[in-house]
Formats: sequence, C-alpha cells, structure tokens
Amino acid sequence: MSKERGMLIILSGPSGSGKDTILTELSKRDSNVQVSISLTTRPARDWEIDGFHYFFMTEEQFQEKLKNNEVLEYAKYGQNYYGTPKGPIDKWLEEGKTVILKIEVQGAEKIRKVYPDVISIFLMPPSMEVLEERLRCRESEDEEDIQRRLKIAKDEINRSNEYDYVVFNDVVDYAVCDLSTIIKAESLKRKRLTNKINEVMNNA
Ligand code: 5GP
Repeated sequence: MSKERGMLIILSGPSGSGKDTILTELSKRDSNVQVSISLTTRPARDWEIDGFHYFFMTEEQFQEKLKNNEVLEYAKYGQNYYGTPKGPIDKWLEEGKTVILKIEVQGAEKIRKVYPDVISIFLMPPSMEVLEERLRCRESEDEEDIQRRLKIAKDEINRSNEYDYVVFNDVVDYAVCDLSTIIKAESLKRKRLTNKINEVMNNA
C-alpha cells in the first residue's frame, strides 16, 4: 500500500500543562510520532539533555540560525527565544510521520500560515490552581518566572479558541488517549487517504 503524507500537529498549552509528559507517553505508544526538537536560548533545567529536550544555544547562535533562514518560526517567551528548526519537518512529513510541534500560541499562528493543513491542539490544565502547583513542584523556576509564566498562561488560555481541539490534562492517561483519538480520526479523513483510495480504484 502506498504511503500518505504525514500529519503536522501543533501542541500548545501553558507552561506546566504537561506537554512533555503527554508527548513522552504518546511516543511510547505510537512509534510513528516524531516530536520536533526546538532551539532555545533558555538555560537547560537540571534534567534536560541538549539535543533531546531542546537544542540549547546562546542568543548569538540563535540569531545566526535566523539569519541563515534555518528557523521555520520563532517567538520570544518570557526572557528567551524559542524556534522550530526548518530542516527535518518536510522530510518527516514525506516519510508519513505524525510530526508534533510543541510550541506556544504566537508560533502556532505563524505555522498555520505556512501549513494551512496543520491540526492544532490546546492542552488545558484542569484549573489555574493545579497549574500553579505543577509549576511550583518542578522547582525549576524562581518566583518571578513562575508569576510571569502564570500571566502568560492566562493570555494563552484566552487564545485557546484559535485551536481545532482542546484536551484537558487532568489524568495523564486520559489526555494521552484523547490525543491518540484525535490523531486516529484525523488520519481517517478522506483527504488524507487519496493515495490509498486511488490504489483501490486502479486495481478495480
Ligand atoms: P519552556 O521554557 O517551559 O520549555 O517553554 C516555554 C514555552 O515555549 C512553551 O509554551 C513551549 O511550548 C514553547 N516553545 C518551545 N519550543 C518552541 C518553539 O520552537 N517555538 C515556539 N514558538 N514556542 C516554543
């Protein structure tokens, strides 16, 4: 059977909404999922690995990438820059992968212009209290940064109406199931099955 082009998915959600946890679980369950690794000027957290969680770099190195047209979209979030490397996205889509960009709302807006077919999902915390608790529990930000992230979170939740789907992350397992369901249903859309349908018609 011929392969269809892969799907591009944006997963946005406030800092602390659990995007990493959900995507780690999803990747274990679905080997076709490819999560894009972003560039950032933010310092690495204790547990983060360069080239796995992010490509960590200085602001000069980031600006150099922008200048060389190597970045698909980027945004300033808090004090730091974040960007999606251009390189592998189209290759992964050609290979039929489900490519996931874990990006914030400004980046999502830019990606929709370049890839109108993109599917966008907003990961919603069950409440602001839970979000604050999760941010505090990970002990990676100081008080000022936590307050900044909570403020940005409110603005982001206000913009959740720009997304195709909203997944509530109360229980991780349920949220991962919801994400899998969206991916499955989207992959069954007729427009994403044209190669396979043509193959059936040609052999009829
Ligand atoms: P954090 O510092 O918590 O890892 O990330 C802060 C925010 O930046 C999160 O909302 C995250 O999704 C977003 N982000 C991470 N990588 C990118 C990227 O490549 N582009 C954009 N626009 N946002 C990103």
